[in-house]
Parts: sequence; C-alpha cells; structure tokens
Amino acid sequence: MEQWNDKRYHNLNFELRQQFGKKMVKLSLDGGFTCPNRDGTLSEKGCVFCSERGSGDFAGEANSPVSTQINDQIELLRGKWPNVGYLGYLQNFTNTYGSMGRLQNLYREILSDTRIEGLVIATRADCLEEEVITLLETLSRETFLWVELGIQSIHASTRDWMNRHEDLDQAMAMIDRLQSCGIRVVIHLILGLPGESREEMIESVKVVGNLHPWGMKLHLLHIMTKTPLAQWYREHPFDMMEKETYIDLLVDCLAQLPPESTIHRLTGDAPRDRLIAPKWAVRKRLILNGVDRELRQRNLWQGKNWTGSKRVWKFNG
Ligand code: SF4
Repeated sequence: MEQWNDKRYHNLNFELRQQFGKKMVKLSLDGGFTCPNRDGTLSEKGCVFCSERGSGDFAGEANSPVSTQINDQIELLRGKWPNVGYLGYLQNFTNTYGSMGRLQNLYREILSDTRIEGLVIATRADCLEEEVITLLETLSRETFLWVELGIQSIHASTRDWMNRHEDLDQAMAMIDRLQSCGIRVVIHLILGLPGESREEMIESVKVVGNLHPWGMKLHLLHIMTKTPLAQWYREHPFDMMEKETYIDLLVDCLAQLPPESTIHRLTGDAPRDRLIAPKWAVRKRLILNGVDRELRQRNLWQGKNWTGSKRVWKFNG
C-alpha cells in the first residue's frame, strides 16, 4: 500500500514539503485579467458556475498593485503560519489572456519579491499561444511553476450546458504539450454536475488521469450567489449529493488516479455567505476526515485501481 505521510493519497502538502522542506502557502493574487468566455470573444455569460471574481473569491483586490497584494496577504497569514514559504497564485479569470509585455511584467514582478518561491498560473487551454508557452517554459526553469487548467468534465452535453466554449481534444492536447515542455499542469474537474451519473464522473477522472497530470483538483459542485448557476438552480432545482455519497465517490476517484499525481483539492472553496448549496460543503475538515476514514475502511489508496500506462514526466525547476 502506498502512503504519503499520514494520508492514503498524494496530497499537496506532502509534495510541497518534499520540494521545499517546509509548509508552503499560496497567496491568491488578482492580476486584473478578464476571460474570453466573459468579455464577448467566446461568450459574455462565462462558465455557469463562475463567480463575478472569475472563480477566485479569496484573491487580493484587482486594483491594488500586485506587490501590495503580496504584502497584505503575508501580513494576514503571518499570525496563523509564521514559518512558511509562499507561492504567488494568479487564480481568478484567465491569467495568460493579455499581451506578452503585460504577462512578462506581471510574472516577473511577482517573482522579484524574494519571499515568493514559486508561481501558479490558472488559465484556459485555448489561451496559451506559442510565445506564452515559451515564456512559461523559461520561467519554469527559474522557479517552481505550475499551470492550472479547467476541464471540469469530459462529457460534451455537460460542457455545453456549462457554457465552457472550449474544444476538449485541444485542451487535452495542451496538457500533454505543456508537460512535454517540462511544465507542471494541474487539472480541475467538478463532481456533482447535474445530469452526470456516478459512472460518468469516474469516467472523467479516468480519462484525465490517463494524461498523468502532475496535479489534480477535484471540486465539489458549489452553487454560489451571483453566478448563472444560482439562477439556473432556482429554475431547475436538482438533488445534490449528500456528504456520505460524495466521500464514497471521492474515494473511488482517488483509487483510479495515478499515484504520482498530486491531489490539490478534494472539496470546494466558497465563501460561507455566498454558498447556496450544498450547505454541508463548508465543513471541509469533516469531508477530508471522512475520506481518510473511508480509504482505511475500504482498504483503498490513490492508484490502487489505476490501470493506465506509466508515464514519467521530467519537470523543469
Ligand atoms: S474559463 Fe474560468 S474565468 Fe472564464 S468563465 Fe470559465 S471559470 Fe470563469
């Protein structure tokens, strides 16, 4: 049986401690971007679940310089975690959707702060031009870098429903492309999307797992105020998973994933006052403890049922 410290899954905390020798904390920074799925290039509506902050509700203020955001966040976190390292996390909207000059200046400004030891860039797979990939490759040789890409579901009807406006095959090819360049990729999937069966959710996990991503985020679908999904839910109420069902599903998903992939998230992260459903989702510790317990009881661990081919990536930096 594989084990990562006290967990039966390859958790991010374990991985970053291996890399840095200490706990690392991500500082959520707002680079002031928008998204082609919101500015009218592809659509004006955005993905159905996307909040007004572009799925980055804990980020600093977009109108503050990034250096101020870094200072503010470190100040906030210092009391809770006095001896940690920091990664800059461009989380909300599409953080490669801008001119090369703008991207270079922003990434370099973040990395010029000596307290920042790595960079995380969330974006869309269709917003990675050749020259942006070259820039990311260069940066990944200089610092610990990963790119986050949302896939959410592999199922065409769900992707249409969520207004994703993204070609799945191209997105999957981009994941391979980035990892071939030595750039770590973290893929987001959402569990609990309406109309998807348990088998379909596990299929998404298996297909994405076959790409052998460096990291995975498994999100529980959250319905949050001020999103298109909130209105859709009012008009088309549907049953959301109970906590126990979700934990049971997560455990099966983990068993299907390659053991090398780092697990960055097993729940969601919504501000309490904005969460409409499911209400139990705010109790993250209960969910994570439930996963640990269920893995033990069923004698499962990440990769136990993994049948994909072995791929070993060589990452830069
Ligand atoms: S791609 Fe990301 S930022 Fe753009 S609408 Fe979808 S979730 Fe929001």
